[in-house]
Amino acid sequence: RLTIRIFVGMGLGVLLGGSINLLGLLPATESLSAWLVDYGANGILYIMGQAFVRLLQVIVIPLVVVSLTCGTASLDSIRQLGRIGAKTLGLYLLTTAGAITLALLAALIFKPGQGLSLSSDASFDTRDAPPLVDVLVNLFPRNIFESMSSGDMLPVIIFSILLGLGMTMAGEPGKRMLSFFQDLDAIIMKVVGIVMSLAPYGVFALIARTFATEGFGAFLPLLKFLLLVLAVLATHAFLVYPSLLKLLSGLSPRTLLRKIRDVQLFAFSTASSNATIPLSLGVLERKLGVKNAVASFTVPLGATINMDGTAIMQGVATIFIAQVYGIDLDTSQLLMVVLIATLASIGTAGVPGVGLIMLSMVLTQVGLPVAGIGLIIGVDRILDMARTAVNVTGDCVVTCIVANSEKQLDTEVYKQSGPA
Ligand code: ASP
Repeated sequence: RLTIRIFVGMGLGVLLGGSINLLGLLPATESLSAWLVDYGANGILYIMGQAFVRLLQVIVIPLVVVSLTCGTASLDSIRQLGRIGAKTLGLYLLTTAGAITLALLAALIFKPGQGLSLSSDASFDTRDAPPLVDVLVNLFPRNIFESMSSGDMLPVIIFSILLGLGMTMAGEPGKRMLSFFQDLDAIIMKVVGIVMSLAPYGVFALIARTFATEGFGAFLPLLKFLLLVLAVLATHAFLVYPSLLKLLSGLSPRTLLRKIRDVQLFAFSTASSNATIPLSLGVLERKLGVKNAVASFTVPLGATINMDGTAIMQGVATIFIAQVYGIDLDTSQLLMVVLIATLASIGTAGVPGVGLIMLSMVLTQVGLPVAGIGLIIGVDRILDMARTAVNVTGDCVVTCIVANSEKQLDTEVYKQSGPA
């Protein structure tokens, strides 16, 4: 079973990477560790890991265009499209705001930064929120190839929806083209399957490299911060989402969590929601019975704008930095953090490490020193992996809720046991 093989790859990766890292701590083997990092972690493992991620990344844009065009063309009406859009956006925003509130509460109660005297002389560019007008104008593609080649997901989504609507309206030619796109969709999903069969090796290489090159010395002073972020992430993924799913759709959260395990593992290893799109789409459509009409829209949109895990990290980090610097945040500043972190997580691209950069936007808005980011940068990779797993879990949960409410989810397929 693929999940088990991925788990094994991950375990072996932790063992190998961890050993290389530990070797560096023993004076006698320091140079051996450095050699292994140079040639192994930054050589072979890097090539293996990157090759795997890139093979999936290269499929993302063609898959989104083809799949979303087919999805739109198979909808009953434009009204249904509007309803799906409104529900999805509403749930994405709501869950993110909930996530950040949970993170702030946890950080205020457990005070991860109190009494710590850390210093950061790192300097970071401050990021201001881009003007709303620009954000809105940039949603619309001027040149679809430009948007595709720079991986701008939102304009690509808008274009694909338009193309799908055009196909529906075009009669015979539209039908012919739709059947061509449907064939293409089936072929691309097979390609995803081929690449995913390499996942155990890819995940092994990615994890081994992370553990070999990560400086674990940075972890100790930040242990409380690290554990708190992980605890809030786990609460959101295993308590909040399941309750929401049960409440709003009556579907079994256990089934969902079992079936999306590969998706979570993959997001964890790659730290990229974007690279996970093909896999999420495949699992949602084939194992959870979500119709393409919904998943092809909600998944790429979610990978681009729905970042609950990222918002959680930003919430805890903001309070942590304030506490280390001995600055008190009042209620209006806390509300500001909820608002800005929600917007920042929308603006965070689904690729590794961006959440930390966007944190500067939150810090600037509430008047905290941006250099505070330097305090937590050492543990960001591990947190990035964990928060990305939560980000994609959120996308899958919302997709199932929306699909179920639109009768676009086959409950028989959802319930089916069989290999997860
Ligand atoms: N790596 C995250 C993602 O792809 C984004 C972030 O928080 O940096 O979802």
